[in-house]
Amino acid sequence: MLNPFSGRDDVEICTAVQSHWRHHALYTVLQYGADDGSMLLQLWTRWQQQRDAGEPVPQRLHYILLPGPTEQDPPLAAPRATGIEDPLGLVAQWLPVWPAATPGYHRLLLAQDRIALTLIVGEQAQALTQLEARADCVLLQAAQGWQAPQIKRLCQLVRTDTLLFLPTPATALAGPLQQAGFAPVAGNTAGLAMRYAPRWRVTPAVPTVLPVSREAIVIGAGLAGTTLCQRLVARSWRVTLIERHGAPAQEASGNLAGVYMPSISRDDNPTARLTRAAFLFARQLWMQLDIFAPERQIGKACGVLQLARGPQQAEAFADAARFWRYPPAFAQWWSESEVSDRLQMAAGSGWWFPQAGWVRPARLCEAMLEACGDAVQRRFHQHAVHLRRVAQQWQVVDAHGAVLAQAPVVVLANSAAALQFEQAAGLPLQQIRGQVSHVPAEQLPVLPMALCGDGYLTGAVDGLVSMGASYDLGDEDTSLRLDSHLGNLGKLRQMLPQWQKQPDLASWQGRVGFRCVSTDRLPLVGALPDMAVLAVTGEVQLRDVPRHPSLHAVLGFASRGLIWSPLAAEIVASQLTGEPLPLGRDALALLDPARFALKAHRRAG
Ligand SMILES: Cc1cc2nc3c(=O)[nH]c(=O)nc-3n(C[C@H](O)[C@H](O)[C@H](O)COP(=O)(O)OP(=O)(O)OC[C@H]3O[C@@H](n4cnc5c(N)ncnc54)[C@H](O)[C@@H]3O)c2cc1C
Repeated sequence: MLNPFSGRDDVEICTAVQSHWRHHALYTVLQYGADDGSMLLQLWTRWQQQRDAGEPVPQRLHYILLPGPTEQDPPLAAPRATGIEDPLGLVAQWLPVWPAATPGYHRLLLAQDRIALTLIVGEQAQALTQLEARADCVLLQAAQGWQAPQIKRLCQLVRTDTLLFLPTPATALAGPLQQAGFAPVAGNTAGLAMRYAPRWRVTPAVPTVLPVSREAIVIGAGLAGTTLCQRLVARSWRVTLIERHGAPAQEASGNLAGVYMPSISRDDNPTARLTRAAFLFARQLWMQLDIFAPERQIGKACGVLQLARGPQQAEAFADAARFWRYPPAFAQWWSESEVSDRLQMAAGSGWWFPQAGWVRPARLCEAMLEACGDAVQRRFHQHAVHLRRVAQQWQVVDAHGAVLAQAPVVVLANSAAALQFEQAAGLPLQQIRGQVSHVPAEQLPVLPMALCGDGYLTGAVDGLVSMGASYDLGDEDTSLRLDSHLGNLGKLRQMLPQWQKQPDLASWQGRVGFRCVSTDRLPLVGALPDMAVLAVTGEVQLRDVPRHPSLHAVLGFASRGLIWSPLAAEIVASQLTGEPLPLGRDALALLDPARFALKAHRRAG
């Protein structure tokens, strides 16, 4: 759809927004109804020009693009540059990161991570109810579908003084909006401009209490902790990072290489939806940080081929491919003959994910910390044992009672070791052993991509291919074992049955690590519940569960730490800074650390 505001209206709207945002450090524009990208482009151009001229602009600009209720097509297509003035060449910045139109939330990081664009695809019916954000400016491009419940919901998504613009054809909406608390702005001629100025006191459904200062302690320097540091520092936080080892990524995140990819299911179940969102956001962040620059040797976006584990799964894959028809840039289903053409051997059918690949997690952790500069104070060789709250601050204390650090916010990113803290002791996390085999590349088939199926196979790092991984429940053995190597070899043979070579197992090396897995296999991301207060609380909804103040978690990444860590960090950093969240309400509920406690509370009640 073209922009329903005419060219002259656009100019007037942009000028009004420009003078409105100068008083905001954080500014959120909510555009309801897709257009050709011109409003975003014009506002971004103004923001950039003002910034370059040293004028006051928001440090962070969020732009949320919601589909209108009657829009059938995915609302996003890479914006057409034609016909839109682009004096700064900004379209060239967003085209490379513009995502394939898969359903769900997409968060794009633009302008060196100062502009966050959130695109919501294919969720027309629930888009407004799912959104977790507060807008400073609303552009109502789509005028249809605004009944009383939608207007009521819109009022929950704005603040006092939020600007709202209606295109001329939609001015019939002015009356209902006025009744809901919006007042026309005098002297405006661009469609209709209104300001949210209710004459009654507005109580937010859930009051947001933001920390008193942007200082946090993060415990754990693996993928979870280091990525969180990066997302906080991008928002001008100062972080103290506490790690019991002398360097980052010494535990699960210390593997030589791991695979990153989405997962697909015919019913697009919560795990599939969430891993897709996590995969797409990880890619965005890594592109922003130039992680795949060849000289950095952090990883390779060489594509991953996920081979079906047997005829039943092959049929399920084909069925999902027929049903979903994903954009080829995101996922393609390859038949047996296509796979054998690519691999030069028969190996069944499977999913081809061209944007997936493999990464060296320890290098990625270092890159995240490097991007933080001196905004992160590294406190290594320090073992946190207790957390205590003193005068609106958290103190992190060691086994001798010494205070290691103090700040208003603490985030636990220390995997299953979080259970040692009294405040997290009830979380249903367990450790699951895994052994990766490091195999000399010349012993394995040379493949142009990473493989995944029963096991996985990465590209070679220093001549060694990572092949994994065993999944040993209830096994605490930290030593490398032949049976685990044999298990990994079995998985490779299962993926590539025609590959008959006998490798020299005596030359194999490897690494043992422990995944941190929750009972529902999904991570724990967000504020920790206060179990003692919950125990004496009556019936509550998830969002009303009492929480420890400013104590958050990024835990339980299981076998997908590479893709989970960026999205989890973005969620927590957005929550702590009062920014729009990168997922909808229901998806966030699936990751909420309080979900288990609430279930238990309801059972007990
Ligand atoms: C064998 C194996 C293969 C895997 N393969 C893949 C793969 O291919 N792709 C993928 O995406 N994921 C893979 N994973 C999963 C991935 O490695 C993890 O999800 C990820 O590393 C978890 O990161 P984390 O930061 O949560 O935990 P960790 O990396 O374990 O970091 C936690 C940190 O907290 C520190 N810490 C703990 N307690 C304290 C304390 N009290 N005080 C101070 N510091 C503390 C620890 O020392 C540690 O450094 C694999 C995991 C294993 C075990």
